Amino acid sequence: MTSQTLEIKLSPQEASDEQIIASRLKKESRWPSGADFFYRILRKSIDARRVPVMFILRCEIDSKPFLIEPVTRYPEPVNRGEAVIVGFGPAGMFAALELLKQGIKPIVLERGKPVRERRRDLANLMKDRSVNPESNYCFGEGGAGTFSDGKLYTRSKKRGDIQSVLQTLVEHGADPSILYEAHPHIGTNRLPAIVEAIRETIIRLGGEIRFECKLTDIHVESGRIVSVETTHGLIKTDRLILATGHSAHDIFNLLAQNKIGIEAKPFALGVRIEHDQKWVDSIQYKCESRGEFLPPASYSLVHQSNGRGVFSFCMCPGGIIAPSMTNVGEVVVNGWSPSKRNGQFANSGFVVQVLPDDWKSIEGDPALGALRYQQRIERKAFIAGGSNLSAPAQRASDFVQRRWSRDLPESSYIPGMVSSDLHDVLPMEISVGIAEALRFFNKRMRGFADHRAILVGVESRTSSPVKIPRDRESLSHPEVEGLYPCGEGAGYAGGIMSAALDGISCARAIALKINVNQLK
Ligand SMILES: Cc1cc2nc3c(=O)[nH]c(=O)nc-3n(C[C@H](O)[C@H](O)[C@H](O)COP(=O)(O)OP(=O)(O)OC[C@H]3O[C@@H](n4cnc5c(N)ncnc54)[C@H](O)[C@@H]3O)c2cc1C
Repeated sequence: MTSQTLEIKLSPQEASDEQIIASRLKKESRWPSGADFFYRILRKSIDARRVPVMFILRCEIDSKPFLIEPVTRYPEPVNRGEAVIVGFGPAGMFAALELLKQGIKPIVLERGKPVRERRRDLANLMKDRSVNPESNYCFGEGGAGTFSDGKLYTRSKKRGDIQSVLQTLVEHGADPSILYEAHPHIGTNRLPAIVEAIRETIIRLGGEIRFECKLTDIHVESGRIVSVETTHGLIKTDRLILATGHSAHDIFNLLAQNKIGIEAKPFALGVRIEHDQKWVDSIQYKCESRGEFLPPASYSLVHQSNGRGVFSFCMCPGGIIAPSMTNVGEVVVNGWSPSKRNGQFANSGFVVQVLPDDWKSIEGDPALGALRYQQRIERKAFIAGGSNLSAPAQRASDFVQRRWSRDLPESSYIPGMVSSDLHDVLPMEISVGIAEALRFFNKRMRGFADHRAILVGVESRTSSPVKIPRDRESLSHPEVEGLYPCGEGAGYAGGIMSAALDGISCARAIALKINVNQLK
């Protein structure tokens, strides 16, 4: 029998049973009885448009067992040169792995701590409301992706590279189902071990990772990078991947001071909205209870208000609202979920596009205008929250009607909340958009903006407020040869997957450059 691909629809309970899947596939393909039969799932998605909710499985069937994907091979030794990577987030990690594949030694500098020590700083942040500016939800081993929901979606069309990133995560401990789930995610409880395993691979293959080592200056001579200053001394290099993420404000200031070109970049800003997960399930699955075979439901909403996009962002079913500030004097929220997404609440970013007109009147270097706009709002949120990391919050129904909430519902945000009028914290262009979109979404999901929903401020780090330019072909900065702006902080990614893919692209650009130089 030859291999075939077919699609079947199954109830949630049927889709959880391998024998039922196999017998349905045999039936639909009219597989001869008694013949050898093997199957594998290529894609699994949920169709929740109708009741009952069904799973759709695209599967490949064959009379021979499927070959297990070969484990990624890395050449040894690494003898084709070195490159420095700043930042050990998804972009830096995957850049390091790709350099190793190309026989180049990565030297990774990371300002934060290894994941286990970092966890202690997060506990302090939650319990004692003390922010360590070098070790927090954004800085440390694995970057902003380590203590996240670990959603692995991307709009990128590079299918081969996407599969290879997912495969690498599986080789380092992620569940193989991420290879076929339509909306794969890993979960905060599982990510740290995967990040540690990736670190071990990099070191085993000859790479170096220096924790608590911060880049503090970049030296350029005759338009080329020559060395970098760090908290542990000078490192000579002519190849630097700068993958420092959207929260490394000191890096944006450093580039501006050193007259290395950067540009202000539109981003999005707003609040986190939190509901009861059971309410989201009942609306999305149109039932009283989702039962044991359906995953906690999510949503994705988009609206246009006064020429600006308003949208839900980074939804975390069964998740926690996280204090994601990186400095004392600011309040920033984000969200994460454990792998089972089994918490009581569902939260999501609820944000409005910020446009160049919004920051044009801000004084100072125009390239830092969007950053200053963001910082001003984070500071206002800090003050509104009582200057102690409590977050300003308001019931959604009160926000729509512009009235202060007399009390606040229970929430997952551990450092605490202070009832505030978020219209006073957010600029008018943002609060008007949120209020209008809340009314609109409330019609699509009845209860979305009622008194049980809470808005927690501010969700301000959706993407970088700065773009570091680079040449489309060489990926090097147009003014500084050998400087490779990379990942989310440079404006080339928005999430774990796209950051990882961009890290791979920058590493390949370096390998190509080495090849060309060797041929000369
Ligand atoms: C709480 C939370 C939840 C999230 N959930 C998701 C999700 O579910 N799915 C998703 O796709 N995305 C999610 N994101 C976003 C995602 O984490 C980022 O898009 C992604 O991590 C960006 O990768 P990056 O490598 O470009 O930068 P980052 O991950 O930000 O990594 C940058 C690294 O550089 C280091 N660094 C900064 N400055 C210096 C310096 N001067 N010297 C040395 N090192 C430095 C930092 O410490 C950091 O480790 C979440 C983010 C947060 C905060």
